[in-house]
Amino acid sequence: MSKNIRNIAIIAHVDHGKTTLVDNLFKQSGTVRENQRVEERAMDSGDLERERGITILAKCTSVMWGDTRINIVDTPGHADFGGEVERILSMVDGVVLLVDAAEGPMPQTKFVTMKALALGLKPIVVVNKVDKPDGDPDAATDAVFDLFVNLDANEYQLDFPILYASGRDGWCDDTLDGPRENLHPLFEKVLEHVPAPKVVTDGNADKPFSMLVSMLDRDNFLGRILTGRIETGRAKVGDAIHALSRDSKVIEVGRISKLLSFRGLERTPVEEAEAGDIVAIAGLQTATVADTIAVPEVKEALHSIPVDPPTLA
Ligand code: GDP
Repeated sequence: MSKNIRNIAIIAHVDHGKTTLVDNLFKQSGTVRENQRVEERAMDSGDLERERGITILAKCTSVMWGDTRINIVDTPGHADFGGEVERILSMVDGVVLLVDAAEGPMPQTKFVTMKALALGLKPIVVVNKVDKPDGDPDAATDAVFDLFVNLDANEYQLDFPILYASGRDGWCDDTLDGPRENLHPLFEKVLEHVPAPKVVTDGNADKPFSMLVSMLDRDNFLGRILTGRIETGRAKVGDAIHALSRDSKVIEVGRISKLLSFRGLERTPVEEAEAGDIVAIAGLQTATVADTIAVPEVKEALHSIPVDPPTLA
């Protein structure tokens, strides 16, 4: 059931501890064995990916918490050209903003944060590395608040949930003097504050399959891979599909030859996937980002996502 899916993006400046935190989230959720080699880490496994000819592993991962699958999408830690940030953020219903307690939010993450706020997403703020002797979690929190004000955050967004964490030591808590036990409070905050994919609550689950392409990758074995969140209906291997440009022209027809779901560190082939889930689809040769992939009875492209270079306010 898609009610048991949460889609989030992580926003973090390089070195603020994203990889370490996600590693420990995997371990504590049982997704990864304690002794799994660090080289196999999800968010930072560039070399391993190149070796395998896989390029999209790092951008999407998922972690199970109880019976809920949390899809975690990485965001570029900087301004982008061509709307990549918007396309990525359009797949999620919440963001986790990870901030080093000693450094506070960095200018490079401002762009992505601005886009997240503009899309109405309420960040869960994780002030990380609070174990550092030179950390000043209160100052970091204030700096995040000021940044949000500067970026025109609304009241709802300024009321952001906050967690203090040491991703390295594998704990986080609501308060600085709380029990420093585990990262469970982060899972709980995600379930509490990030809604299930809207596409599902809007009753789109039973409509014909459609998906907006957010990411494009190549795989040595599978060829072109289109990743996105299923907007309506179900995707099934073998189903006839076509790709629509943003002005609803049919640009390609084909079939879903392979459907991949993100499970932990792996992309797992699945037979079927439902509205709200983030999946990767192989089978089309020319479809690209911002195109709509759908069963042929769908004639209208989904709402377009910007593809032009955005301007930083
Ligand atoms: P990323 O670039 O955001 O993925 O950051 P990494 O997870 O690779 O961490 C960057 C550096 O910060 C590494 O040297 C980590 O060991 C260190 N680090 C990560 N988390 C913590 C933490 O909670 N506390 C401290 N003191 N160091 C951390």
